[in-house]
Amino acid sequence: MATFPIRLFGDPVLRTRASEVGPFDGSVQKLMRDLMETLSSTPNGAGLAAPQIGILKRVFAWRYEGESGCLANPRIIDSAGSVVDEEGCLSIPGIYYPVERARDIKIAGLDESGNEIEATVSDYKARIFQHESDHLDGILFIDRLEPETQKEAKRILREYLTIGVPPTQRRDVL
Ligand code: ZN
Repeated sequence: MATFPIRLFGDPVLRTRASEVGPFDGSVQKLMRDLMETLSSTPNGAGLAAPQIGILKRVFAWRYEGESGCLANPRIIDSAGSVVDEEGCLSIPGIYYPVERARDIKIAGLDESGNEIEATVSDYKARIFQHESDHLDGILFIDRLEPETQKEAKRILREYLTIGVPPTQRRDVL
């Protein structure tokens, strides 16, 4: 097992569609362990998708309220309701905005043992799964903001890319 550096906004790997994992073999299990260990090493990460550690495979890890797990080849097969809540991303440090997501989703995929599972999840856990599934398609949460909010976020991000230091860290050195 190992922890990996988390790729940051501006890295093209975050904008690339990840490919399905093939047979559930040792390499998929290793990727799941690496994702889980890297996620666990962050103070407040609730989810981490493989592209965020530079691996373009459809796998993510999550942890929420004492539970954790991984999902490979996740597919959201049903969704209902809508809820707005604040969201952030380990790849876009220091940026938090309200994002509208489905309240309830039904998701299918392969668990840590390679078993095909189907689960219905709600609220913040459903938000994590939707955010991480987006990462596998090269979509970031800022893409889902209201136009005005998105303009502000993009202005802050342009500044961040120019200076090369995430906003939170910049605030710390004032
Ligand atoms: Zn993210």
